Amino acid sequence: MSSNVDPLFSFDNTFVRELGGLYETWPAEMVPEPRLLALNDELASELGLDPDHLRSADGVACLVGNAVPVGAEPVAQAYSGHQFGGYSPRLGDGRALLLGEVIDTNGRRRDIHLKGSGRTPFARGGDGKAAVGPMLRELIVSESMHALGVPTTRALAVISTGERIVRDTWQPGAVLVRVAASHLRVGTFQYAASTQDPDLLRRLADYAIQRHYPSALDAENPYLAFYESVLDAQASLVARWMNIGFIHGVMNTDNVTISGETIDYGPCAFMDRFDPATVFSSIDHGGRYAYGNQPMIGQWNMARCAEAIATLVDPDPETSVPQLVDVLKTFPDRYDSYWTAGLRAKLGLMNERPDDSDLFVDLLKEMEANRVDFTSFFRRLADAGRGDRSGVESMTHWVDRWLERVTADSDDLVAVASAMDTVNPVYVPRNHLVEEALAAGSEGDLSVLRTLLEVLAHPFTARPDLMVDGVDRYADPAPLDPRTGAPAPYVTFCGT
Ligand code: AMP
Ligand code: MG
Repeated sequence: MSSNVDPLFSFDNTFVRELGGLYETWPAEMVPEPRLLALNDELASELGLDPDHLRSADGVACLVGNAVPVGAEPVAQAYSGHQFGGYSPRLGDGRALLLGEVIDTNGRRRDIHLKGSGRTPFARGGDGKAAVGPMLRELIVSESMHALGVPTTRALAVISTGERIVRDTWQPGAVLVRVAASHLRVGTFQYAASTQDPDLLRRLADYAIQRHYPSALDAENPYLAFYESVLDAQASLVARWMNIGFIHGVMNTDNVTISGETIDYGPCAFMDRFDPATVFSSIDHGGRYAYGNQPMIGQWNMARCAEAIATLVDPDPETSVPQLVDVLKTFPDRYDSYWTAGLRAKLGLMNERPDDSDLFVDLLKEMEANRVDFTSFFRRLADAGRGDRSGVESMTHWVDRWLERVTADSDDLVAVASAMDTVNPVYVPRNHLVEEALAAGSEGDLSVLRTLLEVLAHPFTARPDLMVDGVDRYADPAPLDPRTGAPAPYVTFCGT
């Protein structure tokens, strides 16, 4: 990194000030030829930053790590993590740096973070780099998640570095500028707990409580209340994923935030045909992180979180463990009520009725048996409410039951259908569209990416202007492979 340039950000770095022991001060690596591929103007403004300034040569130098913005204190954060069930005591930011924190225009503290900025002391065998394709992928999917209303880290910018990096093939290198409520993870607590320094763990917990769940301070046992808040945020988050057909793909404890934001868009993907066993990740052979396993894994991760903070809840395990287990046991019910509330809205149901759970169970069975496209089904169901059943013909019997049920709540089916359309997206980042944008972007053509981002920014609004010959290619599932009659298989990767 070279010397300081004009002020861009107003940094206030509490993590660095308060949590010595949880990071290594470290500079980004210089890159030869930075080029801004994408800048999120709306997010820049929300952060109180001037997009034009960010686009300038000085701005891009800061975004890529070639210059240290005034007030930044770049550090690589330490954390541990259970990866696919096995514990790694020392992971940490192997190719990322926290630049610092800013207070946004809504008064919220946000981390500014570089990913792909070179090797750090946590890099182990990795090269510390990231490729353009995967960083654009994180931009597309995380911004889509935000537009869908799911808590998530955001993407401020992607900058190509002018380097070629080695993956399966040579790839153009890039840095992603990520913005997050914080980068505290369950793995951060696991790391702090493993240092055997009770003061470090307590400082971390006190910091996390102040930053994310200050109301826990009013509780009789603030650490137990904090745990309950983290668990509740995760139950809610996983329910949101399930409601939109999102598969995270690598729910390791180092990828589980304390804030409740979705983080780490490596092998994630949206499910097309409804099948709970769906897995896209190249390394998830056992299907540990399959769509249908996500709630159970969410609870497993919360068990690991409980282990990490147990000594704070009470130094005596005979006291702490039963209290933590009591909270942990509430995960399935919390998840279920979040998921059910989401599904009720998707189905246009306003009130609860005793037989609803049968209707929901049968819906999932029918969707799976009929290989229904998860995203578009709920839009076609709203169409059925408006009298056009052509999109849900494979599920006639269930649709009849739904119509009867929905009419019990309201006789204005047109209004019900409109309400459904506000929660059921037309547009999600379908795998083939993402690949198309990445392929063009890696070749230097960013127009495909820009159109896709623009469509995904308003996911609930159908765009008749994009239809060609009655087909909306941004809304429709991937064309079937003519040889197999099925969608082409899709594979995603970690650590790209
Ligand atoms: P992830 O699978 O992206 O959650 O990453 C798991 C761990 O591997 C984290 O500690 C990352 O910092 C590290 N890592 C992933 N890719 C690289 C890379 N190319 N160079 C160095 N560290 C990496
Ligand atoms: Mg990660």
